Amino acid sequence: MRHYLEVKQDYPDALLFYHMGDFYELFYDDAEKASRLLGIALTKRGKSNGMPIPMAGVPLHSAESYIMRLVNQGESVALCDQVGDPKAGKGPMLREVKRVITPGTLLEEDFLPGRRDNWLMGVFAADGRIGIAEIELSAGRFAVREVADEKALADEIARLNPAEILVNEDGAPQIEHGPESGSTAGPTVRLHPAWHFEYETCHRLLCEHFGVIDLDGFGCAELPAAVTAAGALLEYVHSLKNDKLPHLTTLSVESDSTYIGVDETSRRCLEIDSATAPHTLVGIFDRACTTMGARCLRRWFARPLRDRKQLWARQDVVAAWIDDADATEALRKLLSDCADIERILTRVAMRSARPRDLSGILRTLELLPAIIALCAPAPAHTTTTARRCMPEHRLSACEELADLLQRALVDDPPPAMRDRDVIRAGYDAELDKWRELRGNVKGRLADIEVRERKRTGVDSLRVAYNRVHGYYIELPRSKAEQAPEDYHRLQTLKNAERYTTAGLRELESEVLSAEEKAHAIERRLYAELLERIMPHFEALQADAKALSELDVLATLALCGKEYGYCRPELVEESVLHIKQGRHPVVERSGRTPFTPNDLDLGEPQRLLMITGPNMGGKSTYMRQVAQIVLLAHVGSWVPAESAVIGAVDRIFTRIGAADNIAAGRSTFMVEMMEAAGILHNAGENSLVLMDEIGRGTSTYDGMSLAWACAARLATTNRSLTLFATHYLELTALEDMVAAVQNVHLGAVEKDEQIVFLHRVEPGAANRSHGLHVARLAGIPHDVLDAARKKLAEIKESAESGYTPSATQTALLGMEMAPPRPPRRVASPEAPAAPAAPSTSPATRDILKYLRECDPNEMAPREALALLYKMTALLPDKKDDEGE
Ligand code: ATP
Repeated sequence: MRHYLEVKQDYPDALLFYHMGDFYELFYDDAEKASRLLGIALTKRGKSNGMPIPMAGVPLHSAESYIMRLVNQGESVALCDQVGDPKAGKGPMLREVKRVITPGTLLEEDFLPGRRDNWLMGVFAADGRIGIAEIELSAGRFAVREVADEKALADEIARLNPAEILVNEDGAPQIEHGPESGSTAGPTVRLHPAWHFEYETCHRLLCEHFGVIDLDGFGCAELPAAVTAAGALLEYVHSLKNDKLPHLTTLSVESDSTYIGVDETSRRCLEIDSATAPHTLVGIFDRACTTMGARCLRRWFARPLRDRKQLWARQDVVAAWIDDADATEALRKLLSDCADIERILTRVAMRSARPRDLSGILRTLELLPAIIALCAPAPAHTTTTARRCMPEHRLSACEELADLLQRALVDDPPPAMRDRDVIRAGYDAELDKWRELRGNVKGRLADIEVRERKRTGVDSLRVAYNRVHGYYIELPRSKAEQAPEDYHRLQTLKNAERYTTAGLRELESEVLSAEEKAHAIERRLYAELLERIMPHFEALQADAKALSELDVLATLALCGKEYGYCRPELVEESVLHIKQGRHPVVERSGRTPFTPNDLDLGEPQRLLMITGPNMGGKSTYMRQVAQIVLLAHVGSWVPAESAVIGAVDRIFTRIGAADNIAAGRSTFMVEMMEAAGILHNAGENSLVLMDEIGRGTSTYDGMSLAWACAARLATTNRSLTLFATHYLELTALEDMVAAVQNVHLGAVEKDEQIVFLHRVEPGAANRSHGLHVARLAGIPHDVLDAARKKLAEIKESAESGYTPSATQTALLGMEMAPPRPPRRVASPEAPAAPAAPSTSPATRDILKYLRECDPNEMAPREALALLYKMTALLPDKKDDEGE
């Protein structure tokens, strides 16, 4: 217990698994926690200060599944293993912590989610900057970035969905912890003391790791907070007994300008990816053949590219695969047989790769020539950049390594070294010699069996082996008296007697020593084999990356073709023109046939004011536009007949109602904060989706806010905006702001039934059909009747009092763009308007001035001058009556 307590002191945050015989035992609080989380028995062992010591244990052979369950619940496990030889000497066994498993540092294939990355994040906040470092240990990724505020940090956390986050305790930003132990959601957040985040130490540690004198070469010169986060993170990974991390070969600096910014809210609203919900954008594309391809696909979707050249290159590859369906099928078949060499390489680098990992590398290398042959040669006009983006140009079959592995490994090696032979016969003469001896001994055992059967006259006599007694001779109980004198009884069973002899014991020791020798040589050869893979490490890493990308591009091609998508035209201007666009996820749910819709945003239209009944399809339409934009920036084909997609820099959404009570924010507060974020940050190239803004407060407050937000987005931000609302009053904006256009989703009412057309049509809707939808949802009839009555009352009083247009016009304030010229409603042949009633000369003059002026052409000064001119014409107040 003294040793246990000593070790435990070093790992206060982890559950300490203490190897004792055939079990891992846990004590004290760890035992109680493990018993609760795993549902295993809590027992006692000995006493401490007169109190029994709580203990729980799991069998060694099935420990992995228990560890996995704990890690999935956000716990960490320190494995304290026996390191001494159990046969040698007396006294307590030597034990040592060999590995600490935490949610963000998993390496074992069985523990890791295959089709998702498993990120560990480091965060250091100081002096108004937040440094972020990200390590994907299983694949050897290491990146840093700095962000300005907690909102940007939250966006990054939403993008990566890390399993574990390390944060500096002092000045730690607010990060939402994963829920209490026992749940699988949310990252494990660790607060580490300030001294872990010392810039100088962190900088030195990184330099030592990468073998450089400073970090400027990585582009980190101006990023002290990020360097600090990265150094602290590396130190943390080292502290978990991962001494060397040779596969973390580079530190990349992430920049916002490379990717489309999708903030946390938008990521959620647009249902891009989710570990739990199946109906997401990634969900319908999650058809990569390799697990590394599946992870790459997720990264591409999480980070849509802005660089047109790279996107065009991706499109060219996708187009080539779409054109040749047979080749795509053949490629996908080959890819399906490839191993996850990205993660295997990490285990090779950490020297923990298993025999099947190596045969996975071999299998993949053997498939590469066929894969390379399938990829069409790059067209002559392809630029170097595009060529670099084409993964097939980075594949190398590493023939020398393939040859080595082929010679060294048996066909279909066992999962672990101890199970069966791993090294192929003929690879090493000494190994062959000991194996032969072992084999001979086995032959001699068979001879003994034949001889002893003859000697005893018992045909059912057999020579066998077990771990407790070694080799033995077994006779049925009924023939036990036929056992010769030199047989020594080992064991009596219900139906059999087991014996040994001097000759058998001698043979046994020969077998065991040959076995042991062969095994020791095999272990040495295997370790050497791992070393001999290392010179090919970079080439294999490049292969892993290229295969993943090839897999993604072939998947995009497969889905694009199968789902009937089109190649989007990517242009530089700030426009979006989509013909017959569909919602990629809703259409695949297949509940009802999907009605496609067009979209035109650019010049002059910057904002579509979308009205229509509840359930009409407004949200679906808005989301489908954002998802089409996103897909286009991944390099994918899009669900439309044709699409021209401009250069979008960010996507903002304000959709749905959610509160954040824990952070002290009500639903309306959250809504307004999100809207404020959009109004401050959205620019001309941003895509903004606003759904039902202003619904969280009183009608008039909400309507006024929605009105002002829309006006601001259309005139000042000039973003590409889709603005859905149930405030039909907002459609008046179309006549006042040239950049606003009304569209609506139609519905028809027939025999008390409502039919949603799901078609986007020009103009404003005339009603919301809210009560109809409420009836469909099952609201009781008496409530609906009461609602109908109330609606009539409200309408009546509104008509008699409130004049929304005056209020709204005032709200537009000085930021409004000049009003567009009035729409021509009557045709030239329309009958003349009725004669105006007789008016005073002053009024006639004023009207004349007004008719002659063109507000669109007037400077503010001229307008003011006109106003003075007109007010001067006004008669005295007392003469005003009757005018
Ligand atoms: P509310 O105002 O109540 O939020 P909404 O107008 O935003 O409603 P949506 O949520 O977009 O309506 O759509 C309602 C349902 O109609 C969706 O569940 C979807 O399945 C279906 N739908 C929407 N658009 C289409 C379409 N174009 N074709 C077929 N079905 C559609």
